[in-house]
Order: sequence, then structure tokens, then C-alpha cells
Amino acid sequence: MTTGGKVRTQALDAPAGAPVHALFGLSNEELSGALGEFGLLPYRIRQLETALYRNRISDLEAITPWPKDLRQKVASAGFRAGLPEIVQTFRSVDGTERYLIAGHDGQTVETVWMPEGDGGEDEDSDSPAPPEAAGGSAKKAWSRATICVSSQIGCAVNCQFCLTARLGIVRNLTAGEIAGQVAAVLKRQSAEPGRDRINLVFMGMGEPFLNYDAFMDAVRLLAGPMEIPESRMTVSTSGIVPGILRFAQEPVRPRLAISLNAPNDAVREGIMPITRKWPMAEVLDAVGQVRLRQRERVTFEYVLLAGVNDAPEHADELVRLVRRAQFPAKVNLIAWNPGPDVPFAMPAPEAVAAFQQRLREEGVAAFVRRPRGRDIYAACGQLKKTVALEPREGVQQWSK
Ligand code: SAH
Ligand code: SF4
Repeated sequence: MTTGGKVRTQALDAPAGAPVHALFGLSNEELSGALGEFGLLPYRIRQLETALYRNRISDLEAITPWPKDLRQKVASAGFRAGLPEIVQTFRSVDGTERYLIAGHDGQTVETVWMPEGDGGEDEDSDSPAPPEAAGGSAKKAWSRATICVSSQIGCAVNCQFCLTARLGIVRNLTAGEIAGQVAAVLKRQSAEPGRDRINLVFMGMGEPFLNYDAFMDAVRLLAGPMEIPESRMTVSTSGIVPGILRFAQEPVRPRLAISLNAPNDAVREGIMPITRKWPMAEVLDAVGQVRLRQRERVTFEYVLLAGVNDAPEHADELVRLVRRAQFPAKVNLIAWNPGPDVPFAMPAPEAVAAFQQRLREEGVAAFVRRPRGRDIYAACGQLKKTVALEPREGVQQWSK
């Protein structure tokens, strides 16, 4: 079943015609700077931060610790909360929900909610799911969930098997638009990072390391006032070497996943032209610079494309690559999800199982990512393009 519909809220906002400035997305220092004219003391800024990032308000009127006249003055000056809005929802029979979320100019990005989700780190997670916590969890149908977050509208990288690539790069998302996807989804699901086990994967639309500064600003908001531990976040990159090298220097950073998708440069070049710019050896060298936390492993994502990279020889070559790597790694296998006019074929389930088996027999940790929400269009980053391709009116219906 799928649902569609717009949610619009009446907000205490700037008067008609006044320029609007979104506060969501600004750090503590940036909030102080932006609201400098009001001479707010640090505790007032902290109250605002709590309202924006913990209470996820969509209207300045909801900053209840502030006196009413202060809320009104700030709103009249053109400031608004600026929490991004979910404008369309698609619900899968397996509980997965996909959203189109509007950015500051009304353009939408895709974000996915996967209850009990396996965004890449659940299969071999070290810590078990917490027991049902007091205070609201009892009613929920999930005890943990993964949110798949977009970093750009479209993507410039042009991987041949990816539907997002067909959009080209439309624009970068701001830090507020990246962290705002998470806030909007948490709000919709009444989820609380302090209480619920929420994982984030930056595997939606776009290449995070080609929007590095905004992406890392978003990570700092998420790990800071939004209280999602960095160890519960995973960023996936197609192998942007300068980005990986900067990432290696970050004191606060998600786990790292590399979209490898091939065991050698020749196969990879055919499906990921970016390999010509940054060959696999350079990518792996850069990854070797990242100082991993205790028991942390790098994830190699490997999308299986029938007849392209799914042969037993490819598995054997991948084993050698993992063994040669200067860091601990595991492999996440993903059966390719088809898209309109994308000229690849899904591997047979037996081929996926055989590939995994071959890796495991050689001692390589290998997991198969469960396809989620196939009935509403499976792969992360594929919904928006699909919506753009389909005539639409209110309620969407998808078939495989
Ligand atoms: N741009 C980044 C992050 C977003 S893509 C990256 O490429 O790593 C997230 C993952 O989805 C990548 O591992 C990519 O290989 C995979 N992917 C893209 N299209 C897919 C499809 N049609 N089916 C399955 N996985 C796909
Ligand atoms: Fe961009 Fe990732 Fe898709 Fe490649 S797989 S085109 S990097 S979103």
C-alpha cells in the first residue's frame, strides 16, 4: 500500500514579502551570529538549540522557554525554524517508508526509514538491540531503525547502474537540509535517539564527499545536539580520494563504506567511470589513512550485476583484494535493483548466495543486504528519479 499527501503547517513566520532565514542547520556559534541583533545570552541560544534539534519544532512559536515577545521579534525579522517538510510518503508492506522531503527552494530529496533496518551495520553489530525501554517504546512496532539520508539532489558521478546518476547533479544540499531529513523522519516516527536505536546511512541520493563541508557540518549537528552517536552513522562514497583524505583527519566521523562494486579496475571502469580519475589502489591507500576505532571495519559495498561482476572469479579476486588491504574490512553484497532503462540484469538469488559463500569460505566477512521496500522502489536514491519519470496524482502505486 502506498500513501501520498502534503502536510502543511501554519507557522509563525516572516511577514509576507520579508526575506526568510532558516535557523535549522546552524551551529551554536552560527545561531549566535545570525541572531546577533537581539543580544541573546548563551542560555537563550542553548534553549533555541534544544528547540530546533531535540524538540524538532517547525514553528518559532513553539520555543516555549523564550518569552512570547522574543519569539515574535525574531519571527518578524524574517527568521523561521526551517525544519524540512515531508511532502510525499510511500509505505511498503515490509514497513519501509520512503519520503520526498522539500529543501529550502521546494526541490525534493529522497529519505528512507527502515524499521529494524539493515543499513549496512546491523548484520554483524556488536551490541544487541536494547530491551524495550520505558516511556513509549512498548507501542512501537520496531526497536531499532535505519534512516537512509541524501547528500545532494542528483549526482555527478555517473555510475552506470544507478538511477540517481540519470538526474545529473542538480545541486548540493545544505547542512540543514541533510540533518533536517533526519529530524523530519524522527519527528514523523516519534523516535528519540537517546532512547531508540537509530542508525544513519548516508547512502541516499548524491555523493557525500563531493559536498564535503555541508555533509560534515551535518554530521556535527547530528552527533552533537541531535545526539546520534557517530558510531551509528555510516557514510558511503564512490571513492573520492581527496574527500577520503580529509575524512581521515576528522575527530568526529561516521564509519566508512566504499562502493567498490568490482574486484579490479577494468571491471570497475566499465560500471564506474570515476575509476579512471581515482583507480582502486589510490582509493584503498586513502582509506588506509583513516584511523579506525576499536573493532571498527571498513565496509566494501558490492552491487551484484548479473554477468558483469558476479562470477566466481570475481569473488576470488575480491578475496585477494580484501586480504591485501591495510585495514580490516567486510563486504556487503547488494543484489542490483532494476530501474527503468538501466541496461543491467538482477543476479539470480543462487548467484548471490554462491558469491557470499565463496567469500566466507575464504574467511572474508560477507553479508547480503536485504532488499527493502521493493514494492515502492527498492534501491536508495531511486525513488525521486522514478517519481520524476511517472505521471503522478496524489496516491502512487508501484509494482516491481
Ligand atoms: N554516492 C554514494 C552513496 C550513495 S549510493 C556511493 O555511491 O557510495 C549508495 C549505494 O547504493 C552505493 O553502494 C551504490 O553502489 C548502491 N546502488 C546504486 N544503485 C543501485 C541499484 N540500482 N541497486 C542496488 N544498489 C545500488
Ligand atoms: Fe552517485 Fe553513488 Fe549513484 Fe554512483 S552510486 S551515481 S556515486 S549516487
